[in-house]
Amino acid sequence: MSTSSHTSDLVTHTGQCHCGAVRFQVKAPPDLTAVQCNCSICSVTGHLHLLVEKQAFTLLTAPDQLTNYQFNTKTASHLFCKTCGIKSFYIPRSNPDGYSVNIRCLNPDTIQSITTQSFDGQNWEQDIHNIRDTIQ
Ligand SMILES: [Zn+2]
Repeated sequence: MSTSSHTSDLVTHTGQCHCGAVRFQVKAPPDLTAVQCNCSICSVTGHLHLLVEKQAFTLLTAPDQLTNYQFNTKTASHLFCKTCGIKSFYIPRSNPDGYSVNIRCLNPDTIQSITTQSFDGQNWEQDIHNIRDTIQ
C-alpha cells in the first residue's frame, strides 16, 4: 500500500448532474483511478467511482436538490438529483467518511487519464481491502 502516488499536483475537477441543479468541485490528480463495481446498484447505474476524502469535495449547489436513497446496510447514502435522477456523487459504504464522485459526471477538460480498477461489490467483504488505497 503506497500513498506516494497521490502526491502529484491536484487539480480542481468540476462536475454536475444532467440538468445542472447539482454542481460540485473535487480536488484530485489529473490522472484518475476509477473503480468499477459490479454490485446491485452500480451495475444498473454505471457509476464510475472516484473515491475522495470529505475535504476534497465541495457541493456548489443547494443540498435540498438531492434525494437520499438507502438500502441493505444503509451505510451508503445514494444521493441523486431530484430533478433529473442522476447520481453524480454519493457517500459510499466503502468510504463513509468521504465521497464517491461519478467520473462520468466530471468535466473531461481537467482529466489527463483514467485507469480502471474492478471492485467485486457482489462479494463486498472479500474485496473491500483492494480499493481502500485508491481513496484520493
Ligand atoms: Zn439534475
